[in-house]
Amino acid sequence: MTTAQTTRSKAELKELAEQAGRDLEDATPLEILTWAAETFGPRFCVTSSMEDAVVAHLASRALPGVDVVFLDTGYHFPETLGTADAVGAVMDVNLITLTPVQSVAEQDAQYGPKLHDRDPDLCCALRKVKPLEQGLGSYDAWATGLRRDESPTRANTPVVGWDEKRQKVKIAPIARWTQEDVDAYVAEHGVLTNPLLDDGYPSIGCAPCTFRVAEGEDARSGRWAGRAKTECGLHG
Ligand code: SF4
Repeated sequence: MTTAQTTRSKAELKELAEQAGRDLEDATPLEILTWAAETFGPRFCVTSSMEDAVVAHLASRALPGVDVVFLDTGYHFPETLGTADAVGAVMDVNLITLTPVQSVAEQDAQYGPKLHDRDPDLCCALRKVKPLEQGLGSYDAWATGLRRDESPTRANTPVVGWDEKRQKVKIAPIARWTQEDVDAYVAEHGVLTNPLLDDGYPSIGCAPCTFRVAEGEDARSGRWAGRAKTECGLHG
């Protein structure tokens, strides 16, 4: 039996995550993802917002056919849905699309229209946090594209850590990368990116809550602009 096939307790997973966070702090993203692939095998997935396919591309090199989980909130830009389709069609990954329990119309009927304007925390909980929690159920470890340089709230992101809320290993293989590192990887490998990145949106989420950012402004300042909210709850 390989290591990846063994069943580990939550305590073992937590210890594994904390040790790997220390051991892999200076490792490259591909080394971190190779460790994840060897350690967790099919119990490992990548989540992608479809801003770009950098982590999905890296993960597919470490684990061809890797599960890439995309959360279709029902509020995405057409460009984001198009990027997801392209990733599923051309990359060596298994694209898994998660959807909320309620359609936007059903949510509007129960909570009233434009919940995102009146109570974005509840909207994110219904359309992002809950579906992801259910979708990640069968995995021991998940990887994200979080980077330390994106915002002060992400400055201490470990490359491998313990996701207390979901009781899973959380991997941020490009945590130490800068935007320049990402751009260089995209150029070198011809990685798919969301066309909105070239249209004034350096950070892309749901259409009602994502706005263009002026050149030189903080990349995430266009997310929930004008509100105190800075994160959707997936990474809190
Ligand atoms: S980002 Fe906006 S539209 Fe998307 S789930 Fe959160 S509040 Fe709703």
